[in-house]
Amino acid sequence: MFQRIVAMMIRVHKKMKQFCKGCGIEGHKQESCSKAFLKFHNSGPMDYDKSPAWADVLKEHPRILEVLPHGRPRIPSSIHLKELALLTGHVVTKRDK
Ligand SMILES: [Zn+2]
Repeated sequence: MFQRIVAMMIRVHKKMKQFCKGCGIEGHKQESCSKAFLKFHNSGPMDYDKSPAWADVLKEHPRILEVLPHGRPRIPSSIHLKELALLTGHVVTKRDK
């Protein structure tokens, strides 16, 4: 019984949480997305993590999930890309030694 209530609460919670399909960030709709001008913005009807825009992000930045909050697909900000550069730069330095 308790488990069923928990499962139901999780379902409701997931429904209430709204992630923008345009950028993958929580809290607004795709129509009111402020990231529409960005390179990796998704204008399609699918969720961001299933969009061609996200596929492009992964193609260009295979390790992007390591710097994104909660490892969740979203449009990378310049801060994330900077972090990623530091991260990948660090790995290269290590490999060279
Ligand atoms: Zn958005």
